[in-house]
Amino acid sequence: MQTEKAYYTLPVVETCTAEIREIRPLNGSAEVILDKTIFYPEGGGQSGDRGTINGAALLDVQEKDGEILHRVSAEDGAGLAPGPAELVLDVPRRRDLTVHHTGQHLLSGITLSLTGKPTVSMRIGEAVCTIDVDTPEFSQDTLVALEEAVADGIEENSPVIIHLCPPERIEDFPLRKIPPKGEEVIRVVEIRGKDFSPCCGTHLQSTGQIGMLRILGAEKYKGMTRVYFIAGRRVLRDSRLLRQNGDAVSQALKVPVGEIGKGVRAYLEKTGILERTLKAREEELARYKAQDLVRGHRDGVIAGLLDADINEVLRIGKAAQKLTEAAILLGARKDGKFGAFCSAETVDLRSLIKEPLETYGGKGGGGHSFFQGVFPNEKGLSLFIDAFSKK
Ligand SMILES: [Zn+2]
Repeated sequence: MQTEKAYYTLPVVETCTAEIREIRPLNGSAEVILDKTIFYPEGGGQSGDRGTINGAALLDVQEKDGEILHRVSAEDGAGLAPGPAELVLDVPRRRDLTVHHTGQHLLSGITLSLTGKPTVSMRIGEAVCTIDVDTPEFSQDTLVALEEAVADGIEENSPVIIHLCPPERIEDFPLRKIPPKGEEVIRVVEIRGKDFSPCCGTHLQSTGQIGMLRILGAEKYKGMTRVYFIAGRRVLRDSRLLRQNGDAVSQALKVPVGEIGKGVRAYLEKTGILERTLKAREEELARYKAQDLVRGHRDGVIAGLLDADINEVLRIGKAAQKLTEAAILLGARKDGKFGAFCSAETVDLRSLIKEPLETYGGKGGGGHSFFQGVFPNEKGLSLFIDAFSKK
């Protein structure tokens, strides 16, 4: 049965009374059919409304063959009965989607008039919206020009006019995209004089209500260009978040907020130099420690538990490996790990390590000249090192 689409005929209302006609069970949920509805069903790139029907939360709204299907949970569906119902619309969410949808018309219309490039598809997302434009790329200057032209369009506050047009008269309108086929009436949305588009979504009454539209960026997408944008209150929230982050970085780096990009690059350059210097010093220190370690050992076995972490152990072990043919096993007291190293081609570390590793509860892996692993406690690691030193 057809549902009266009150979301087109009524102004945006928070509540409305309707009649539940039917409740249909549906794979773990239920579909509610009303005589009329204020809930817009998903379509035209805009997601369906949310709200409640007699307190039951809407999970989704879809349209099928002129019927609007309101999906609720199976439990909520079981609590509903045919008869009068109070519909409550999530107005802030609807308003947000409507702002973005109308913003999309303006952006697509201006993109066409300014660059000659048509919008092929669009999506009004809950966080970010996109239009896919039939062009291989847009320069940064073009994106700024589009954003400025949209801001002009918002300030002009042009009325948004809905025309209900029979298909045979559709050529009266200079449509930006091809109208749907097989409709009794085609809904044409006009931004006065500027943009004409067949559309089934929800729209503002004038462009001024969009408030503001920001193009966040663009990227290549399937031979086209996908332009990302936000509008209305999302711009305000985004600006607030960026300002808070900008202020935090500005205070930390002691540079004006307008220069934080430059400030961060300079900071990274400075820390990069410090990191390289530190690494060189660490390597130098490891070489000295390695020399001490191997003194007097041309071959055989060297083993010890160092007051270090595994990174330092690995640096020392690798430096020591270049100075001797001894099999070296170094434990890292700080994290219970160990590394084993050997440059003699006749020695296979695995044959020296396997049995004591298992005996004292360690785990590890490696090849014949390098092996590393870990013990759950220092006692196991110490016993393992002792056993290895007696090899
Ligand atoms: Zn629309």
